[in-house]
Amino acid sequence: MRHIFFTLQSILLFIIIGCSQSTVNQKQTATHQTTSETKPNVIVVLVDDLGYADVSFNGSQDISTPNIDRIAQNGVKFTSGYVSYAVCGPSRAGLITGRYQDRFGFGRNPLFAPKDITQGLPLSEQTIAEVLKPAGYKNVALGKWHLGSHEKLRPLKRGFDEFFGFLSGGHKYFPEDWDLNDISEVKSQFEAYRTKLLRNDTRIDEKEYLTHALSREAVSFIEKNQKQPFFMYLAYNAPHTPLQAPQEYIDRFKHIEDKDRRIFAGMVGAVDDGVGRILDKLEELKMDENTIVFFLSDNGGSEKHAAENGVLRGQKGSMLEGGIRVPFAMQWKGKIAAGTVYDNPVISLDILGTIAHYASAQPKNKLDGVNIVPYINGEVEGVPHQQLCWRKYDYKHFAVRKGNFKIVKDKKQETACYDLSKDISEQNALTENKADVQQAYDNWVKQMKDPDFLGLRADKKYNKQHPDRFKNVEKY
Ligand code: CA
Repeated sequence: MRHIFFTLQSILLFIIIGCSQSTVNQKQTATHQTTSETKPNVIVVLVDDLGYADVSFNGSQDISTPNIDRIAQNGVKFTSGYVSYAVCGPSRAGLITGRYQDRFGFGRNPLFAPKDITQGLPLSEQTIAEVLKPAGYKNVALGKWHLGSHEKLRPLKRGFDEFFGFLSGGHKYFPEDWDLNDISEVKSQFEAYRTKLLRNDTRIDEKEYLTHALSREAVSFIEKNQKQPFFMYLAYNAPHTPLQAPQEYIDRFKHIEDKDRRIFAGMVGAVDDGVGRILDKLEELKMDENTIVFFLSDNGGSEKHAAENGVLRGQKGSMLEGGIRVPFAMQWKGKIAAGTVYDNPVISLDILGTIAHYASAQPKNKLDGVNIVPYINGEVEGVPHQQLCWRKYDYKHFAVRKGNFKIVKDKKQETACYDLSKDISEQNALTENKADVQQAYDNWVKQMKDPDFLGLRADKKYNKQHPDRFKNVEKY
């Protein structure tokens, strides 16, 4: 009897221990699944040629951007947010790789040259999408590509699962202007602005104003991909030229007298509505706490094309602040306090530096960008970057920022040093010798590579060297 009792007790004990173990296993599995499921989604909203003072979160008086402002209000506004170059192509190459583009010979704006694999992002580099894919991310690129039109350089070959947009450096905005069926009909650099849009690798007949179509696709992608981590590269070409906006958007800004500025504002208004739709969708689907949203421009505003850079001197193309300091904001609800203002310099390269960390992704190449979240939150001391550098190769222009000091060589002026904490407009060149700042640049530039391809400025020269550039281009 006693023996039976002990046997029963042993069986019971075995069952209890077994059950407990099973519970532990379930918990471990659940924890693992939760970790995987909570990798943050990432949305990068990149706009084109928007000036520092063209959003109301940076004090624009004539253009109201209530939805873009929500990103800054929900999270952080960067007052010293930079990009790595002052025009489109090289800036995008830096952003998408998290590395100074001069490290890999992308020091010029690429030409639209579908047969030339050197005109674009070299295959030695990884895009954000290529870094995130092995970490379980689904990736979509929407809008302007401009990182190579050669078949091996297109979005679907660079880590993106889906693509909707166009390959060139700009595009017309209304469907009636998309009168070329595919790139085999393009016969000069800027005719690429007239091609039909691509959905993945198929040309489509899109009916909506371009900015609206991109916003629609962004919302649709979010709805369809709620259950897995995703990365969305939403590269609106607005408000880059040509200045074209629907009449109701131009009418929204009747108070603006200048016609070009009014149309420009209408284009920004359409982007702002799109950003609002995206943020609304994230909130509706309760995805807003697990989605990081970045907003920035690819370079400073062009004053001749109606943009405004406010107190910043210089504009698109310049190594002065107006060319490289851009409207830049980020939200990550629950992780970054609402209404934060961060004044230390950050740069577009930090986007991959940040998301690679939270996605537990392993970039193949060493990044120049870093995870900026602990700095924003004050969890670590110091600043994200001891120095930031820029080079405009063909002009021998450059800039370097170290702390508050900046040394810059730009057109019509010799190398000058400014204290940006007192002189954001770069008006009063210092007489003191800032050899340490110059030294920082000299050390940096030694690591950089000369451009690998001729750029936009050399369009005619390139055509002479490649007389068959637009001949026998395959349909695509
Ligand atoms: Ca641009």
